[in-house]
Amino acid sequence: MYLKETKEIFKKASDSGYAIIQFNISSADQMKAVVEISKKVKAPVLFGTSDGERKFFGARQAVEMAKLYGEETGLPVILNADHAKSFEKVKEAVEAGYNSIHFDGSELEYEENIRQTKEAVDYIKSIDANISIEGELGRIGGTGASKVFTEKVVADESMYTDPLQAIDFIERTGVDRLGISVGTIHGISTAVGGEENLKMERISEIKEKLKGKCVLVLHGGSGVPSEQIKEAVKRGIVKINVNTELRVAFSGAIKKSLNECETTPYKFLDAGIKEMEKVVEDKILLSGSNGKI
Ligand SMILES: [Zn+2]
Repeated sequence: MYLKETKEIFKKASDSGYAIIQFNISSADQMKAVVEISKKVKAPVLFGTSDGERKFFGARQAVEMAKLYGEETGLPVILNADHAKSFEKVKEAVEAGYNSIHFDGSELEYEENIRQTKEAVDYIKSIDANISIEGELGRIGGTGASKVFTEKVVADESMYTDPLQAIDFIERTGVDRLGISVGTIHGISTAVGGEENLKMERISEIKEKLKGKCVLVLHGGSGVPSEQIKEAVKRGIVKINVNTELRVAFSGAIKKSLNECETTPYKFLDAGIKEMEKVVEDKILLSGSNGKI
């Protein structure tokens, strides 16, 4: 079912020590890949749409499709507005019926991030107190684009989330989830030295400071080695965002199919879906959310 109350599902994951993967999508085809696998492995469904993805898909269209998949499968379904960077974008997603919102003020100066995040939280709560709200503190590496970089892209220590600021931030804004920077980038860097290395101690330090008041989110989950994903979950990450790896799988298989002169959309798109399903299954099994419904 399309969840009315979305906070509980993250709390349950946090209490039981597993994470839920947010899969970014911009079309019904991609949603299908996520749903098919979630059904197979019995995992909750969490879709994400960035501003660009939402603009392409249509916010209301995404909500209606998410509702339909929730009804059809009986799986808990969450739809998150990923990286909404303005009050207008937040409003647009809430009005369309999103049951989860991520307001990203991480590029703003600290106090301004708090002010704008609080403004978004107050507004969302006044409309529907059941919506789970994510804030972001610290800077994720990269340009913001979820793509493959051939140059070296890293997140250096000056961008990481400060544990003391984290507790101050959540107390003053009232967010339910916090996106943190602990070494990931948006996208994947294929250059030498571009491998992602998560700062595990930082996750533990932040987790300890927050004392269960807020759940932790890892952005830029693509390209992070499997062992590091598992360790991050062990240390308290409850939501992991994955986008680039899905795009690479989906577009790669479609390209191959088109090169073989396939012209039937439901055939070349299906090739993309099948390839994307492999990534979805792999990530769900790493997160431990399989068998949790
Ligand atoms: Zn992100």
